[in-house]
Amino acid sequence: MKTPWPRVIAHADMDAFYASVEQLDDPALRNKALIVGPNSLRGVVLTASYEARKSGVKSAMPMAEAMRRCPGALVVQPHFDRYQEKSKAIMSAFAEFSPSVEAISLDEAFIDMTGASEIFGSPARIANLIREAVFDVTGGLTASVGIAATKYVAKVASDFNKPNGITVVEPHETVAWLAPLPVSRLWGAGPKTVPRFHKLGLYTIGEVRCADAMMLKQQFGNGAAHFQALSRGEDPRRVATRRKARSMGSDRTLLKDVSSREEIEQYLRRSADRIGRRLRDKGYCCRGVRVKLKTNQFKLHSRQVQLGDSTDCADHLFNVSKELLNQFDDKGPYRLVGLAAFDLVQADDPQQMDLFSTQAKPQALEHVIDDCIAKFGKGVISRAADLGDARTIADTTPTLDFIDDPSE
Ligand SMILES: [Mg+2]
Repeated sequence: MKTPWPRVIAHADMDAFYASVEQLDDPALRNKALIVGPNSLRGVVLTASYEARKSGVKSAMPMAEAMRRCPGALVVQPHFDRYQEKSKAIMSAFAEFSPSVEAISLDEAFIDMTGASEIFGSPARIANLIREAVFDVTGGLTASVGIAATKYVAKVASDFNKPNGITVVEPHETVAWLAPLPVSRLWGAGPKTVPRFHKLGLYTIGEVRCADAMMLKQQFGNGAAHFQALSRGEDPRRVATRRKARSMGSDRTLLKDVSSREEIEQYLRRSADRIGRRLRDKGYCCRGVRVKLKTNQFKLHSRQVQLGDSTDCADHLFNVSKELLNQFDDKGPYRLVGLAAFDLVQADDPQQMDLFSTQAKPQALEHVIDDCIAKFGKGVISRAADLGDARTIADTTPTLDFIDDPSE
């Protein structure tokens, strides 16, 4: 009799993601050996298309070696904006399946589908639906999907039938399914550990499972129990929905000290624009604003306020920061001006609407600015107020952007 599924974990992994996006965007690159990487023999391959992989080209291989193995390969430089855009679409497609999605990189995520069979059907059907959803939202990219009762097995499974394949490992088959796989498939067995297994005569996961626990412990210490648990398909890790950053900020240590309010405001304006853009980019809104000033005597002062609503609007951040400026007693001069947005919430979280919002107009403008920057690059557009000071205030000022993320 089949064991029931204690949990249903899907791992979805895009196939040759960067290369596939390039091939999707430029039909001339399709069905060709393609390398996404730097336009020089220094540096390494980011991703190779499956056509190039046939010649032995792999991610992280030095470009020189890749070109030796596959002399006819076309090389294109990466377009990270495009990958990010596709990634966003892919991750929101995953979110349609489950509230519990853990993105591991731009092109890979765990999706906890426990209890979802009522809605989506069997694990095999779920895997196919995920693949189809990815194909649809990206306009033709393929993913491979593994489904198992644990994260570890799901991840190994997604790699089993690449590209464009699905692999479902039933709980009762897990141990037998893992057994013939090489020890390099054990999570945590890297280039240093694998040869140590081989020295002990252990080449497959099944052999590690059957090995004497005391002997393994002598070799690997506490790692031994971990490897043997994996070899039985045991992995207690939960699908961890992305934790939220707590604050986002921009601190500027100035080239020359400032004391006039007008000058400080110019820096705050710049920082507000920057933070607003990053909030929108990451899909956050903030509910608090903090201004930080450091005197030339290295005394640090800060003032903060909790907002009545949440915002990702730079104009709003700037107006609040100006109000906060009124609360500083120290007259400077200052060597650092910092602005931070804190108490971040997901922008699409349900939140109270502000009926008489004054944000609508500046917000619309900022979305237009975002689009321009996305299309034409930074510096293509700036506020009239900044133009006069382009030389003094422009990005010659060292800026420290930070994302204060509890998971980092
Ligand atoms: Mg991938």
